[in-house]
Amino acid sequence: MLCLGIESTAHTFGCAVVDKTSRVLADARDVYRAPEGKGIHPREASRHHIEASADVLKQALESAGASMKDVDIIGYSAGPGLGPCLRVGAVVARTLAGYHKKPLVPVNHALGHIELGAMLTGARDPLVLLVSGGHTMILAFSYGRWRVFGETLDITVGQLLDQFGRAMGFASPCGSRIEELAGQSGEYTQLPYVVKGNDVSFSGLLTAAIRLAEKSDVPSVCYSLQETSFAMLAEAVERALSFTGKKEMMIVGGVSANRRLAAMLASACERQESRFYACPIKFAGDNGAQIAWTALLDYSATKNKVAVKDASVTQSWRLDTVDVAWRG
Ligand code: AMP
Ligand code: MG
Repeated sequence: MLCLGIESTAHTFGCAVVDKTSRVLADARDVYRAPEGKGIHPREASRHHIEASADVLKQALESAGASMKDVDIIGYSAGPGLGPCLRVGAVVARTLAGYHKKPLVPVNHALGHIELGAMLTGARDPLVLLVSGGHTMILAFSYGRWRVFGETLDITVGQLLDQFGRAMGFASPCGSRIEELAGQSGEYTQLPYVVKGNDVSFSGLLTAAIRLAEKSDVPSVCYSLQETSFAMLAEAVERALSFTGKKEMMIVGGVSANRRLAAMLASACERQESRFYACPIKFAGDNGAQIAWTALLDYSATKNKVAVKDASVTQSWRLDTVDVAWRG
């Protein structure tokens, strides 16, 4: 059984083909790059997706050695995400499903990050830290849904890094540049550390870091920013591990590429006697494989599909409202 997955929530237009034995047969992507110092402009990104879609789809099918006739299911990212970007993926998915008469499965993007991470790492029942441009959430599976055990009260950790980086004039996304600069310094300056209950807040930290950069060297601010924000996340994760008693912990989303964050989480896991898993970097950010794999799991378990005329998108579709039939 082959599933074609289409991802278009934000900067990435991706198409991937997976089969039911967990093989990613093809993963093609094209990423919208915002002008230097600027964030994603939804209309510009959606224009990028429209222009990239035909080539990305062709590439995915060619490298999978498949044609649309061989595809059994089509999954698409139906939210959460940027409306104009989501609509491009949905239009492509609806067109293909309608024309080729294939079942169409809407997928929650956050669920896609988790299910692909679990498939690739072998984690079975982890506490999850989902850290990306669009999410900062601590989740564990309980009674049919991924439940939230902590999240950001304002901006995500990806937005914290990208907005700080853009204020420094870096090209977006800025996380890897900040990581590189932080590695050149070991000088810590105290910044606002805000954990409320098991939730985190980053907006005060962002303002303080930008102010600090007016009088300190940028590498030391990058170091202090990483140390503060990642320690907040590690504290919330450690408390959630202790509370839920989960024996596995998995990090997914674009920010999981950061080695310092992974090291802090690995020591929290060691203290809580949990096994630490990180999604492989290649699949940490947005991609079509996360959508294809989740659509395949969903369709195999439920046979749920949507009619082409009802295949919509939802900009703010919370993961903890999604029923998950394939997890015990
Ligand atoms: P996603 O939304 O899942 O595609 O993730 C994109 C986010 O990951 C952006 O905010 C990037 O700045 C961030 N990111 C990518 N690489 C790194 C890194 N090495 N360290 C921290 N953040 C990163
Ligand atoms: Mg994402």
